[in-house]
Amino acid sequence: MAVFLDGWKRSCMCGEVSEQMQGEQITLIGWVQRVRNIGGIIFVWLRDRTGIVQLVFNEQKLNSELYSEAESLRSEFVIGVKGTVALRDENAVNKDIKTGTVEVNATELVIFNEAQTPPIYIEDDAKDNEAVRLKYRYLDLRKPSVQQTLFMRSKVLNAIRSFMINEGFIEVETPILTKSTPEGARDFLVPSRIHQGECYALPQSPQIYKQLLMVGGFERYFQVAKCFRDEDSRADRQPEFTQLDLEMSFVEPKDIQTEVEGAFNNVFKEVLGYELNLPLPRITWKEAMERFGSDKPDTRFAMEINNVTESIQNCGFSVFEDAYKNGNVVVGINAKGTADKLSRKHMDALTEFAKTYHVKGLAWYAMNSDGTVRSSFKKFLNDEANAQLIEKMGLEPGDAMFFVADKKITALTAMGQLRLKLGKDFGFIDNTRHDLHWITEFPLFEYSEDEQRYVAAHHPFTMPMTEDFELMDTKPYEVRAQSYDLVMNGIEMGSGSIRIHLSDVQEKMFRLLGFSHEEAWKRFGFLLEAFKYGTPPHGGFAFGIDRLIMTLSGKESLRDVIAFPKVQNASCLMMDTPSAVPQEQLDMLHLKFDLEQ
Ligand code: ASP
Repeated sequence: MAVFLDGWKRSCMCGEVSEQMQGEQITLIGWVQRVRNIGGIIFVWLRDRTGIVQLVFNEQKLNSELYSEAESLRSEFVIGVKGTVALRDENAVNKDIKTGTVEVNATELVIFNEAQTPPIYIEDDAKDNEAVRLKYRYLDLRKPSVQQTLFMRSKVLNAIRSFMINEGFIEVETPILTKSTPEGARDFLVPSRIHQGECYALPQSPQIYKQLLMVGGFERYFQVAKCFRDEDSRADRQPEFTQLDLEMSFVEPKDIQTEVEGAFNNVFKEVLGYELNLPLPRITWKEAMERFGSDKPDTRFAMEINNVTESIQNCGFSVFEDAYKNGNVVVGINAKGTADKLSRKHMDALTEFAKTYHVKGLAWYAMNSDGTVRSSFKKFLNDEANAQLIEKMGLEPGDAMFFVADKKITALTAMGQLRLKLGKDFGFIDNTRHDLHWITEFPLFEYSEDEQRYVAAHHPFTMPMTEDFELMDTKPYEVRAQSYDLVMNGIEMGSGSIRIHLSDVQEKMFRLLGFSHEEAWKRFGFLLEAFKYGTPPHGGFAFGIDRLIMTLSGKESLRDVIAFPKVQNASCLMMDTPSAVPQEQLDMLHLKFDLEQ
């Protein structure tokens, strides 16, 4: 076994060996994918990051020392080989690999490193359990599909970076050891050794720094930024994730959106090979909620929501009539062509599903293709209301309609979720399509059921809409914000806003969010102070790189697009983090864990 390379250099990569190279002497280096010994001839698949090529060791043509060394080869040995490229016999061609028409007749072999039998199969379609794969992530990373995703990630970042630099943005790194920023999640804290009893926070985003870079006069900033949020585990979250973060001075929302669209377009061009139709459509938050019941609507299928409140005032069905009387709404969707397929069991499951979104029930009405009607409430409806509902909903034989009655946002949200569920259940969503659009004019505040108070819908630095400025004093919770989200295939890709650049407005905002003057100055004094010295009007945006790659690559989980991901309970199975640390380290920080509590 050779310990060092000793001058071995590859002349080409495994995936590059082609018919045009027939007769050429080449040198390859890589990992043994698999070995097949048919007695007298050993076939070895050699793998590197570009692909696989077949090596042939022929006992008759090689000296016995080399042949017996070839016999010792096992999966994942790291080897170097010299040999001659030959065409395969027609019946030996393998269409599954790029180099399947050729093979390399080996004449020299060196083993750089042997390998024990790996604990997982290093093949794309291997069915190893995810926990084992992640424990041995460095082996999992050798799989072609995992490598392709990370190559795609690098290509996406490159497409974004080159676009941003071309547009005159400067990349600035901001600190990781910082002060808590109110992005709405819990902070990860880092206790200071030097400042006993005090902590840094890891940034939830570089929000305040990028605003201060605008105060600092940079005008156009971007960064591929790591962000940290200590949130409860959810399927599609990672405690640390990557954002493309940007900020611009002297801009209106449209200017920022144009740059973000350009960056996305460059990604589509470079990675998927086609361009987007720009500018992207814009839908206000209000319209999105009313039409799709969501602030991140999946517009790859229709089935829009209808508000039928006006039609049901005297319909005969007390649930609907009461909703009207109480100032609530009745909203519905028509799931076209689903009636014949909808069993009673499916209806019950849909009702239970809707209830998880805080509505009391789901009213359904299915008209089979033969005209027969099954419904949970038709028996209560008078003829006039029945005809009106059919007309308003565009119901035709074969269609099924669903209604909920509740407070407006509750009803719309439940209907929006039901729309998505029906879209998935009946395959209405065209998965081959990528649909991007902006959602604009979000409310400035939203009510947090958890905290029982109003919180900033985006973050506290978001500027109200000019038209709504005066409402800040009278009806602050009706104020719309100069904020916008980019949505792709029903997934929020990123959000941004025009910022408050005036210290008095920022102070008012903090006050409305329940911070006292003292508290606001204690936490954000440096920002309020900075705003006193000539702050340019500015705004920005940030979008999640991990989620973008996941969507573009069609992967199911963020873990698939991150080199070393954490699992759902925020731990890393490979390094076994978080982990206990030696007592001396804790002592240095004056920390003591009280695990009894
Ligand atoms: N900092 C914000 C976030 O991470 C994005 C922005 O407003 O630019 O959500």
